[in-house]
Amino acid sequence: MRPSTAIAYAARMGTTFNAGDLTIHRIIEQEIPFFDPLTFFPALTPEVLAKNAGWMEQAGALVDGKLVLCIQSYVVRTPHHVVMVDTCVGNDKDRLSRPFWHQQNTTAYMDGLAAHGLRVEDIDYVMCTHLHVDHVGWNTRLLDGRWVPTFPNARYLFSQKEFDYWAAENAKEEIGPIADSVLPIVNAGRADFVASDHVLGDHIRLTPTPGHSPDHFAVLLGRGRDEAVLTGDLIHSPLQARFPEMGMRADYDPKQGSESRRKFLECHCDTGTLVCTGHFPSPSVGTVSRWGDGFRFTPAG
Ligand SMILES: [Zn+2]
Repeated sequence: MRPSTAIAYAARMGTTFNAGDLTIHRIIEQEIPFFDPLTFFPALTPEVLAKNAGWMEQAGALVDGKLVLCIQSYVVRTPHHVVMVDTCVGNDKDRLSRPFWHQQNTTAYMDGLAAHGLRVEDIDYVMCTHLHVDHVGWNTRLLDGRWVPTFPNARYLFSQKEFDYWAAENAKEEIGPIADSVLPIVNAGRADFVASDHVLGDHIRLTPTPGHSPDHFAVLLGRGRDEAVLTGDLIHSPLQARFPEMGMRADYDPKQGSESRRKFLECHCDTGTLVCTGHFPSPSVGTVSRWGDGFRFTPAG
């Protein structure tokens, strides 16, 4: 499947899911084969990859030998709020080390919002599960040469601990996504700093899932029970469900990340909870069941 075919495939898949009294939309910015699995997952061996390539290809997670990742936001409509979780890569950003994201100029993201009847003014809260490049981008947009909040009425929720880490790193040497997509939000007075177990209303609960980044959080959704969960980057591929101890190359603390991943998957295994992954190929949303000493991700139909 060529990249253009992969995108067309994604467009046909579901982008709206209902869970209890919540509606969840996926806003897809990009979905293509990106990375060589053997470098993306440092512990993966050619033998294990060969054994698992068949089902990975069937799941759309491996195309032409490369891992397919979906870059997307989730918009959650509760009876009280419209909440955006993670904000992809964004337009007009200098990302020299990542040519596929450098100076992006695409209408896909705004078209995705509009397709669900959403305007940027409609978003009440923006949350970033962590502060990596593909989760903060649309926090800001370029206006008259300045980075301004894309969602003018939103409060932006960041983990205090995650922010402190990245702000300190950025002070040593500028980190593009922090400088152009996080600090302008803080300087505009739109940021609220919270703990990674913060609760918002009676439908949204953050839960700490550290490891991929210093204070990564996942998001639990539903009144009184976990109807749906948003994983962020505690997992990147269905291969890590099958092998929860398999870290990815950018993990801040791989051991802690694998512990967070196994605990989270165990918690939502065989519960029927809708697991909304950050980067799995479309439809990205499904349920988790047991598979040997790991877990099987079954996409929602
Ligand atoms: Zn990511």
